[in-house]
Amino acid sequence: MPSTLATPFAPAEPMTLPAHVMACPQCGLHVTLPALRVGEEAFCPRCDEHLVSIPRSPVDAPLAFAWTSLILLLLACSFPLLAIDVQGNQTQISLLQNAEAIYRRDFALLANVLLLCVLLLPGLFLLTVIYLFSGIKTGRRLPGLRPLATLVGRIQPWMMVDVFLLGAIVSMIKMASLAQVGFGLSFWALLGFSLALTRTGSLIEPHWLHYRINLLHGTDPTQGQAEPSHGCHTCGFLSPASEERCRFCHATLHARHPRSLQKTAALLLAAVVLYVPANLYPIMLTESLGRITPSTIVQGIFVMWQNRSYPIALIIFVASVFIPIAKMIALALLCLAAAIPNQVHPLHLTRLYRVIDFIGRWSMVDVFVVIILVTLVHMGSLMSVHPGVAALSFCGMVLATMLSAMSFDVRLLWDVKQPGSTG
Ligand SMILES: [Zn+2]
Ligand SMILES: [Zn+2]
Repeated sequence: MPSTLATPFAPAEPMTLPAHVMACPQCGLHVTLPALRVGEEAFCPRCDEHLVSIPRSPVDAPLAFAWTSLILLLLACSFPLLAIDVQGNQTQISLLQNAEAIYRRDFALLANVLLLCVLLLPGLFLLTVIYLFSGIKTGRRLPGLRPLATLVGRIQPWMMVDVFLLGAIVSMIKMASLAQVGFGLSFWALLGFSLALTRTGSLIEPHWLHYRINLLHGTDPTQGQAEPSHGCHTCGFLSPASEERCRFCHATLHARHPRSLQKTAALLLAAVVLYVPANLYPIMLTESLGRITPSTIVQGIFVMWQNRSYPIALIIFVASVFIPIAKMIALALLCLAAAIPNQVHPLHLTRLYRVIDFIGRWSMVDVFVVIILVTLVHMGSLMSVHPGVAALSFCGMVLATMLSAMSFDVRLLWDVKQPGSTG
């Protein structure tokens, strides 16, 4: 295999990726890539999956955006997030007060999800990115680079700052008819944090990152590839089929994820079971002038519709009803398609998987709305909001569908015998 490398220890150069064979993570095809330079991008010829690109400024840009995100995260934790005024009763809340208020009401699952998905995991992600790219920039073989490069990819799907922001906006629009509402300094810091974090995430190219880290360790994964080999699902490089662990990122190697369909189906079943109480029981209880009104997800949507808050009704309907049901049906269909020979082209099924994998976490918006309203509106019998048990089962359902989608090995769709398939 040709290589453009002069020395395996070059700290900041080369900014190219030599020609080599890469395993597509979505269809398993071993794709022969040409040498790639900065700004170039490669796609799988069979399933259109983005394989790798080398961003412009591939080391400095992730570092700059990660530092910016980290500063904005600290600012977002330091000031009031939202404020309301009900008949002269003013309340301001910060991001951390949200979690504290939910803990005090014994809804620890919700508080943990908020802390993990909005603060801790994004913070860990950014610190890891800074550590990894500092190592690459200085050419120093820092300890733990390989497992940390794997970790950033694992954390990314669980970061939900953008979903929380949508939840904050929905909460404020919900409250606007009852009280004076305002966004604090932290809200704008959180908005900047969300944008900078998304940009940082988009600059992380796992295949290229593992290549650069291996160069620091004195190995070039683009050289000496031989068949028969297994493609690593984590770094995309090929290792001999006889080996249990990837040579380049140390992930466990499997031709296909073991028991992928069983795990997907079991988690899907858990999600279906949790979705029943999530709809039967109240997700939120509103106390106004001493009267407590429980409301389920669907009742909440009807009330918003009757109050002519059509965009909010639509957002909650899509996030809490349409996406979960569509995702559960799609996962069931994908499991069937991967297990039984069928006429559907795997490319269509792969695209369906990409859609449900992308939209799944947005279902969490209603959970964040409940958390924010519970923290923000606590004026005793004048007006208070309490969390309902359905918030727990709904949150559990979203987590179960996300885990179910992650357990599904998309490559199984391409293994099924299918008339007319090129694969
Ligand atoms: Zn592919
Ligand atoms: Zn690997």
